[in-house]
Amino acid sequence: MNPSISLCCRVRPAIRAATPSRRYASTSASPKFAKNRWLGFALVSAAAAGAGAYIRSQGPHSGTLNPDTFTKYSLVSREPVSATSSLFTLRPRYPSDSNYDVYEDAWRTGVWSVMFKQPQLQIGRDYTPLPTTAATSLSVDEENEGYLRFFIRKDPFGEVSRYLHRLNIGADIEMRGPQIECAIPQETNDVLFIAGGTGIAPALQAGYSLLSRTTSEHRPRIHILWASRLREDCIGGVSDTPKAPLHRSWFSGWFSSSDSASSSTQAVPAVSPKQATSLIVKELEALKSQYPGQITVDYYLDEQNRFIGKQDISKFIESTRPSDGSRKSKLIMVSGPAGFISYMAGPKLWAQGRELQGPLMGVIKELDLKDWGVWKL
Ligand SMILES: Cc1cc2nc3c(=O)[nH]c(=O)nc-3n(C[C@H](O)[C@H](O)[C@H](O)COP(=O)(O)OP(=O)(O)OC[C@H]3O[C@@H](n4cnc5c(N)ncnc54)[C@H](O)[C@@H]3O)c2cc1C
Repeated sequence: MNPSISLCCRVRPAIRAATPSRRYASTSASPKFAKNRWLGFALVSAAAAGAGAYIRSQGPHSGTLNPDTFTKYSLVSREPVSATSSLFTLRPRYPSDSNYDVYEDAWRTGVWSVMFKQPQLQIGRDYTPLPTTAATSLSVDEENEGYLRFFIRKDPFGEVSRYLHRLNIGADIEMRGPQIECAIPQETNDVLFIAGGTGIAPALQAGYSLLSRTTSEHRPRIHILWASRLREDCIGGVSDTPKAPLHRSWFSGWFSSSDSASSSTQAVPAVSPKQATSLIVKELEALKSQYPGQITVDYYLDEQNRFIGKQDISKFIESTRPSDGSRKSKLIMVSGPAGFISYMAGPKLWAQGRELQGPLMGVIKELDLKDWGVWKL
């Protein structure tokens, strides 16, 4: 396996984004690591496709999402998923027929995000729109009007996530995008998505984008390993793979003992009958019903001392079809807090104001998976 993964291409902002403490990050160009250039090319094509919809969308008072200016949305609802996370539904403040095209281009491409602005502090943070599934509470009209949904964790000390959780229903939220985080090549057949916490949002996107390419000849497959700290986030979720022996926590490996202690004492309120199945689990189940046999999910819960281990990864890898040798057909994606990504695949790096993928390290490097491309989100 190539020890490094390249590439391109997110240019940031006239507004302050998160410092390296953020939970996921962008991708960045590095000519040194040319082997995986296909991902870079795919990103450039995606940007071009997005630009088309964007140019069509521009008017003096555009209500169309675009990557250069902030567009106003209104907060329609905020439904708690767990004590620390909620599902946000937003609708464009002003009607625009072009949002459909802008979103479609992004969905067809792969994993994408938008940046929300905190207007008092003039800072921005990235969030991942959830795909529309049969479990989604949106009506067809709402979808056509360009509603977007987000799964957002409230960081107890975080500026923007706390701001979003404080907003009144009906309040304006300004966002810009779409920003392509990872274009999934058309040739991709198998994806292993390793998600920590709200890293499940890009996993849902990857599943939606990949599986919507299904034809009678092409039946791609995605396996999601989702690690959660809180039971409520994934309540009702049943793993597709029979349980393996317990593994050591990446949290305990990464954080100091005091951090581990505080996470284990985090309050988990009783779950009401209404919340018996997490909204996110419902989304995953809906994708499973839509694409039977093509998406499988395994749940890992800190409270149950269940953590993603090497054999969970290798079990799926061994079950996949032989590679065509191109490294475009098999892709591992890792998304979640910085410590989680680092433990699984090594840290991303900052250089010359850009965030790079950095060398492949951690659990995935140790597995030495020759045919697989790896992408850190
Ligand atoms: C592409 C992408 C997609 C994302 N999608 C989602 C999503 O769908 N859902 C989601 O919930 N999140 C998502 N995130 C993460 C999100 O962008 C934010 O990083 C997250 O919400 C925290 O932002 P914040 O402003 O609330 O916290 P921040 O203010 O950025 O603080 C984060 C943490 O860092 C600590 N901190 C801040 N400054 C310092 C300092 N100087 N020294 C030490 N510690 C410090 C804070 O105490 C806090 O605990 C995504 C990130 C990216 C890059």
